[in-house]
Amino acid sequence: MTAKLIKGTEIRDEILKELKVEVDKIKEEHGVVPGLVTILVGEDPASISYVTSKIRTAQNLGYKEIQDNQSVEIKEEELLSLIDKYNKDDSIHGILVQLPLPKHIDEKKILNAIDPDKDVDGFHPVNVGRLMIGGGEVKFLPCTPAGIQELIVRSGMEIEGAEVVVVGRSNIVGKPIANILLQKAKGANATVTVAHTRTKDLAFHCKRADILVVAAGVPGLVKPEWIKPGACVIDVGVNRVGEKISEKTGKKIAILKGDVDFDEAKEIAGYITPVPGGVGPMTITMLMRNTLRSLKFHLGIA
Ligand code: NAP
Repeated sequence: MTAKLIKGTEIRDEILKELKVEVDKIKEEHGVVPGLVTILVGEDPASISYVTSKIRTAQNLGYKEIQDNQSVEIKEEELLSLIDKYNKDDSIHGILVQLPLPKHIDEKKILNAIDPDKDVDGFHPVNVGRLMIGGGEVKFLPCTPAGIQELIVRSGMEIEGAEVVVVGRSNIVGKPIANILLQKAKGANATVTVAHTRTKDLAFHCKRADILVVAAGVPGLVKPEWIKPGACVIDVGVNRVGEKISEKTGKKIAILKGDVDFDEAKEIAGYITPVPGGVGPMTITMLMRNTLRSLKFHLGIA
């Protein structure tokens, strides 16, 4: 293997330690801790699992954590008034509504009802706009893209002036990571190209990338020969390609594959993220960072 492996789990642990130090200091100096509410509607097993991980991480950091589970029958107006309640609650700095919501509820309406200053997911149009404007306007970066930036920065790869190619233009990964790396700021200042299904020659663009971020959701989309020698490859894709029995638990688990052919790509790239264990662990970590940031704004110390 020639590439340096960017281990998301190690970087996650490093950042969580840093956050804990800050949380303890703020608690000592200001007598408050970050408050996060997670609203879960229904009993979708995947959603329960995501919410449980978020709650566990928040509790380990010493956050005030409210787990607000609601029946799948909840009416849209009831959910809106719940959000209104948390918008007005000064001990809550972050509001997270676990998606997807049941079909009878308008997801957009619910997400837009969250106070943008408590929108720790960073998806509210006001926060999307703030990111687009850049500079001091930026409040919360969406979690997965913020995690990607952190992985690149902490790997030691130079972002300033780099040719970045992002494959994928979704609102949750592609567009925001392109915007983040384009910022006139530290850990950014890149020249960014965004590719998608209508891009004429995907191989051509990938081949000239110093930093290649792939978020397409297509297993093995990026071929090893498309990777520039020494490039930093961030594979965001999480694709279930089969099942296996876990050696640890003896239970059936999904076999996950990224959008990049890892085994061959690692011989060409300079830096590469594995799947799983690369980008994945960063999302919740960045949610925690955003919640702490929200408290710091609230205290006027951000
Ligand atoms: P998405 O909404 O489905 O968007 C996929 C994007 O990739 C679209 O912009 C699409 O182009 C583009 N694309 C698809 N096939 C392509 C191809 N053959 N050539 C060029 N572009 C192509 O997906 P997403 O939500 O951004 O997620 C992408 C992947 O990241 C998924 O595997 C997802 O599971 C994973 N993910 C991981 C994390 C995490 O680890 N924490 C978080 C979020 C997502 P068009 O716009 O033209 O359709």
